[in-house]
Amino acid sequence: MAVEKTLSIIKPDGVAKNIIGKIISRFESQGFCIAAMRMQKLSLQEAEGFYAEHRERAFFADLVKYMTSGPVILMVLEGEDAVAKNREIMGATDPKKAAEGTLRRDFADSIEANVVHGSDSPQSACREVSYFFRKSEILRPCCGGQCGCKS
Ligand code: AMP
Repeated sequence: MAVEKTLSIIKPDGVAKNIIGKIISRFESQGFCIAAMRMQKLSLQEAEGFYAEHRERAFFADLVKYMTSGPVILMVLEGEDAVAKNREIMGATDPKKAAEGTLRRDFADSIEANVVHGSDSPQSACREVSYFFRKSEILRPCCGGQCGCKS
C-alpha cells in the first residue's frame, strides 16, 4: 500500500466542543503521523476557494458561513492508504448514517456540523494540502517525499 498525505480539518464544532485531543488521538492511534498542523479562522475567501467544487450546491452559502464561524484545526496526516483510512475513521458525511465507532457517529450533530473534513481522493488531497500548507510548513514529512504529490 502507498504512503499518502491527506488533509484533515477539525471543523468549528469540533474545536468548540473541546475534543481536538480526542480526535487527534484517534488518528495517532490508528497509525497516522501528523506532518503539519495549525489553528486558524478561515476567511470567507479561503472557505469559498476550498469548497469551490460545491459552489453550485444549495448548501454552499451555509457551508462557507459555518466553516468561517470559528477556528478550525488544519492538519496534514500521513500514513499508508491515508485518504481512504481517514474517511473510514471519520464515517459517513451524515452522522445519522455513520458507522459505530467513527468520529462523526460519536461526536457530530448534523450533516453540516460534522466535526471533521477529510480529502476524498489522493488527487484532492494534493490540492487541499497545498491549498493550506506551503512545502516549508510540512515539518514532519514522515513519508520522506514518497507520497505522490508533485508539490
Ligand atoms: P465533502 O466535500 O463531500 O466533504 O462535502 C463538504 C461538506 O459539505 C460536508 O462535510 C458537509 O459538511 C457539507 N455537506 C455535504 N452535503 C451536504 C448536504 N446535503 N447538506 C448540507 N451540507 C452538506
